[in-house]
This record gives sequence, structure tokens and C-alpha cells, in this order.
Amino acid sequence: MFDNLSDKLDKALHVLKGHGSITEVNVAETLKEVRRALLDADVNFKIAKEFTNTVKEKALGQNVLTTLQPGQLMVKLVKDELTQLMGGEAVGMNLQGSPSVILMSGLQGSGKTTFSGKLANFLKTKKSKKPLLVACDIYRPAAINQLQVVGEQIGVEVYAEVGNTDPVAISKNAISHAKANGHNVVIVDTAGRLAVDEAMMTEIANVHKAITPDETLFVVDSMTGQDAVNTAKAFNDRLNFDGVILTKLDGDTRGGAALSIRTVVEKPIKFIGTGEKMDAIDVFYPSRMADRILG
Ligand code: GDP
Repeated sequence: MFDNLSDKLDKALHVLKGHGSITEVNVAETLKEVRRALLDADVNFKIAKEFTNTVKEKALGQNVLTTLQPGQLMVKLVKDELTQLMGGEAVGMNLQGSPSVILMSGLQGSGKTTFSGKLANFLKTKKSKKPLLVACDIYRPAAINQLQVVGEQIGVEVYAEVGNTDPVAISKNAISHAKANGHNVVIVDTAGRLAVDEAMMTEIANVHKAITPDETLFVVDSMTGQDAVNTAKAFNDRLNFDGVILTKLDGDTRGGAALSIRTVVEKPIKFIGTGEKMDAIDVFYPSRMADRILG
């Protein structure tokens, strides 16, 4: 996860880590390397520039060159900024509703169905909830089947209406079913397309309006780089979602999406997906991730 970025930042900060006293030239050179590492990781140019400018301002403000351990202070400033870039504090989910309704959105292949299963499993095993998974992909029978397989695997009921082509009706019926059967969380898995298109957006916006979810989550494949950020923007414009799920962080993603998305859509990353198995889910803690990246 972020191995490349981690290596590059480590190299960039190496000089500072090893020196008791550093010079203005060291600091400038290091920040240039940090910016290069961020750009290589596919962080957008403006964000990378602002990042290093902020670190520089803070370093000047704290008279970094005259402190006892300037190198360590610089590393700390970079780490703090990285934490801020990824959102600062971890943000939890709103699970107050009875039932709480969670709507999953995102492109086809982003990992929505897999994540729906992981989230249901997480809520069941870690939060003692009784979730209901809802199959709202009316176009692909295989998608319904996939969710049913996942549900069986984790012991969570799946609500589906084979033959019904109205996702608004299905999701509403599912919520009634949840109420009648003591489910306290409803996770609605929706249909995605390969790219953002108007029909998909209208469909999910209609479902969103009809069921007024407590949490609308946007699932995005972190391997898709800057495209991920553009897709996030498109979905956020329509759904004003509550949080982002970054999937496939176990792959050799360059990490730019993870680092840019928060700034661009101003919504927190809530969970990450780190594998295909049902337990490959982690709550996203910006500071822990920054620690990990900076080793
Ligand atoms: P959907 O079309 O958005 O519902 O996407 P799926 O849940 O079907 O996932 C698409 C593919 O990505 C499947 O092969 C999943 O096994 C895989 N996948 C999903 N999440 C992850 C993840 O966090 N890591 C890895 N390595 N693969 C994942």
C-alpha cells in the first residue's frame, strides 16, 4: 500500500532525518523532492504545490532552522500535513436511524458489491448489528447472484426482487422488510455503469430521494488515479454523499486518489478495502495512514 510514495518520501526526508543541523537549502531541496514524490503518486499539481507551500510556511513560522532537532520537526510537519490532506480526524458513520439506511454508489467494478458485503460483515461482527443487504442492480442478474453469494458467506440476509425493474420500489420494499424483521441496518447496493452517465445518475438520485439514506457512500477504485477524483466529483454533485470508500488499496496503487479526493470533494474517506476477502476492510484513520506512508 503506497509503497512507492512511501519510498520516495523516505528518500526525500532522508537528509533531514540524518542531520542535527540543516540549512535553508536542505529544506528547499527536501520540499522539492516531497512535491515530486506527491506528483509521482498522481496527486494533482495544485494540491501538491499547496502541500509544500503550507509545510514551508509552518517551518518558517516555527523557526525550524534554529530548533534543536530541525530534521525531526520537518518530518513531523510533513506528517501533519499529510494527515490533514487525508482529512485530519477519522469520521464515523451515522447509524442512528431505525433502521439506518446506507446507500452505496459508484461505478461498475469499483468494488461496491464486495464492499457492501464487507460492511455488512463489519457491522455484524464488530458492532453487533443485524444488517440487511439489498440487491438493487436491476440490469445484471449476475450482480444479484453475486450479492447472494456474499450474503451466504457472511450469514447476512439478502433482499432481492428478481424481475422487478424499479430500484426505487425495491429499496422501499426492502426497508419495510427490514422493519418487519428486526434489521437495524439496511445496505442498498445499486447498479453502476462503466462510466458516469445520465441514466445511472438519475436512477441513483431517484433512489436517494425516495429512501433518504442516513449514509450515502461513494465507492471508488483507488487504482483509477485522477479519474477517481473526477468520478467522485460527478457523484458528489448529484448525491452530496457523506463519505468515500477507497477500494483496492492492496494493489500497487500510486495513492494519488487517496490523497486528492478529500481536498477535491471535501468529504471524508471512511473506510478502505484492502483485498477481496470479506474481512479486508479497515476504518480509515488519516494519522495512521500518514504514519504508515512516512514509516
Ligand atoms: P461492483 O461492480 O462495484 O459491485 O464491484 P465488485 O464488488 O464486483 O468488485 C469488482 C472486482 O474487484 C471483483 O473482482 C472484486 O473481487 C474486486 N475487489 C473489490 N474490492 C477489492 C479490494 O479491496 N481489493 C482487491 N484486490 N480487489 C477488490
